[in-house]
Amino acid sequence: MTDLRIAIVGFGKIARDQHVPAIAATPGAKLVAVASRNASLPDVPHFRSLEELLRDGPEIDAVALCMPPQVRRVQAATALAARKHVMLEKPPGASVSEIAPLVAAAKQAGVSLFATWHSRYAPAVEPARQLLAGRKINQVTITWKEDVRVWHPGQDWIFEAGGFGVFDPGINALSILTRVLPQPLFVTRADLDFPSNRAAPIAAELDISDMDGLPIHAVFDFRQTGPQSWDIRFDTDGGPVTLSSGGARLFDGDTVLVDAKDAEYQGLYRRFVELIADGRSDVDLAPQLLVADAFMLGRRRVVDAFEDKA
Ligand code: NAP
Repeated sequence: MTDLRIAIVGFGKIARDQHVPAIAATPGAKLVAVASRNASLPDVPHFRSLEELLRDGPEIDAVALCMPPQVRRVQAATALAARKHVMLEKPPGASVSEIAPLVAAAKQAGVSLFATWHSRYAPAVEPARQLLAGRKINQVTITWKEDVRVWHPGQDWIFEAGGFGVFDPGINALSILTRVLPQPLFVTRADLDFPSNRAAPIAAELDISDMDGLPIHAVFDFRQTGPQSWDIRFDTDGGPVTLSSGGARLFDGDTVLVDAKDAEYQGLYRRFVELIADGRSDVDLAPQLLVADAFMLGRRRVVDAFEDKA
């Protein structure tokens, strides 16, 4: 089998930190081009836009779209029209309704569309899903707090409309939650804290439930200083089960069941290669729907203005 020839489009933080090394580590995948207005990678052909790459560049089979969500749909539509397989960074787009036409376009073009949720590939997530399948869960508590100045310096798009604000990391927790719990979930209450000078929330508190009334409480906050908290605690009939460090560690009570190195993006690229080989797409909008509903139901509170420099 020949290698899947991949181009990264939107060459920023996540492309550099994760996509480049993950592609290099994935059998059957090869990075052959970068399309980005400003950034490039030594020794890899560079184009200033996806259109320029498709017109003048080397042959490619697939694109990984790593730009902010507000501009991803147009790029995805262009790539699908050119019959390229498409990997979407999370969140898959700036809205829910813009994704269905992309699914249809992929089907029509006979290519694969992969809406990625990288946190689902954290090493403790699958073991947690299996452990919790044998327990009765009484309550879930999500604590997802990080310092936006440390994790997203200068990324103004996060606080613009369609940038998701604190849901940019928060949706990672929701992607894990909707993976480890098999039943449909829905938001019942949301409080959203909007800085007075920004269009997206800096903090949010959600109540989520299922048809049996399972209480799930989530607190998301970008104003954390010091170490981040990326934890989900499940109170079960067999005691507490905790996924911590964004899904890298799993505790059953005080017993450590998993404490492993992150290889989320290698998992994503393995899955992308498999989907393409099988002629399938993978688009699960469950995390996106919860965030959309939080915006729809959310009570808006105006809080202190946020400036990137403290
Ligand atoms: P980023 O570095 O701010 O942006 C990525 C690149 O997209 C930029 O360097 C820019 O490259 C291009 N871009 C920015 N605004 C654009 C626009 N308006 N039109 C076209 N291109 C634009 O963002 P990131 O942190 O890599 O995040 C990108 C996506 O990955 C987001 O959806 C995010 O949620 C997801 N993600 C990020 C992380 C993380 O830790 N940062 C982790 C997981 C997932 P050019 O100027 O060269 O075009």
